[in-house]
Amino acid sequence: MKTTEAFDGLACTGCGESYDADEHGRCPDCDAPLTPMYDYAAVDADAFGNADAPGHWRFESLLPFPAADAPTASEGDTPLVETERLADELGVGSLRVKDEGRNPTGTFIDRGMSVAVAAAAAADVEPVALAAAGNAGQSAAAYTGRVDLRSYAFVPSRTAFSNKAMVNVHGGEMRVVGGRYADAAAAVDDQLEADYYSLQEFTTPYRHDGAKTVSYELFEDAGVPDAVVLPASTGELVVGVVRGFRDLVALGVADELPAVYVAQTEGCAPIAAALRRDADAVERWSNPDTIIGELEIDAPAGGDVALDALRDVDAAAVTVSDSDALESAVTAAQTSVLEVGGAGGVALAAAWTLADEGDLDGDDDVVVVNPDDGVKTPDVLRSHLMGKGI
Ligand SMILES: [Zn+2]
Repeated sequence: MKTTEAFDGLACTGCGESYDADEHGRCPDCDAPLTPMYDYAAVDADAFGNADAPGHWRFESLLPFPAADAPTASEGDTPLVETERLADELGVGSLRVKDEGRNPTGTFIDRGMSVAVAAAAAADVEPVALAAAGNAGQSAAAYTGRVDLRSYAFVPSRTAFSNKAMVNVHGGEMRVVGGRYADAAAAVDDQLEADYYSLQEFTTPYRHDGAKTVSYELFEDAGVPDAVVLPASTGELVVGVVRGFRDLVALGVADELPAVYVAQTEGCAPIAAALRRDADAVERWSNPDTIIGELEIDAPAGGDVALDALRDVDAAAVTVSDSDALESAVTAAQTSVLEVGGAGGVALAAAWTLADEGDLDGDDDVVVVNPDDGVKTPDVLRSHLMGKGI
């Protein structure tokens, strides 16, 4: 498999063992996730981000594979949207939303999927498979279709209709599993008897790595913000965003890291709880219960890696109610054009909480990451209005 000059193989996030790029699961020794390593000295910092390639592949010098070998639909290069009315309401210097809903399948996951599917195509193993709350299944079907690989997405019955429909529209196979996300995750190995190539986050080493480019773009548009507020689900976005900024410091492009606030719902907050305990490991959340399916991940595969990444920055956790999250998403739609999904609403509601509690002030430049498009779950947003009699 052809790799980029700076790519320095894979390292285990648990035991530190090194592997080459052909390894494509978790660590054979300790079962922890693998992660790409890079030689920053091999990257031309002055030319960083200027490769002649579509979307986030212009950052190919800090991605594992050359842009020319990547299945791409110009994922990335999403806008950072100024929301003056929300900034005024919160009483902060600025509030900007990195709108990842503008990606090809409406989610930040497309970034990492384009990288992971490049590896899958090179490995030439079929089928590929994963469990997903919804968005990742849709994204995987889209990108595996691009390289003509047969794919299976295992989704829980509660997955949004738009995700289920689009898995099929993109040509992917789908198994709808009764129960919740954990049941769908268990069903992959139960139901797929043949060997398969996993596109599961933190089983493939590459999805969280592709998510780093969110921060590269953020930095181009806004420098290093005072605070980045982002929702946590599997840990993929948290790890990507923190490592992206860490890369920029390592390259000498940025000279500091932002404060990072990790937002989850009160009904499923395993990463937030572990961060508050200052723990090394995330504990499974018993009885996960939130209307926001993308965040109802009781045992996040990247939870421990996320905690480790967050030790590099000034990090804190915020939990909010489903109702406040949906109210925030609706407010963004009504004041700022943005079609923010429930998970983005969680991050916005967390920013509100931080402002109310004095953790953000009138000078602070705040960036909120919206991970997916509100159009994927309009029924959830609409139901919040019905609860208010609208
Ligand atoms: Zn290991």
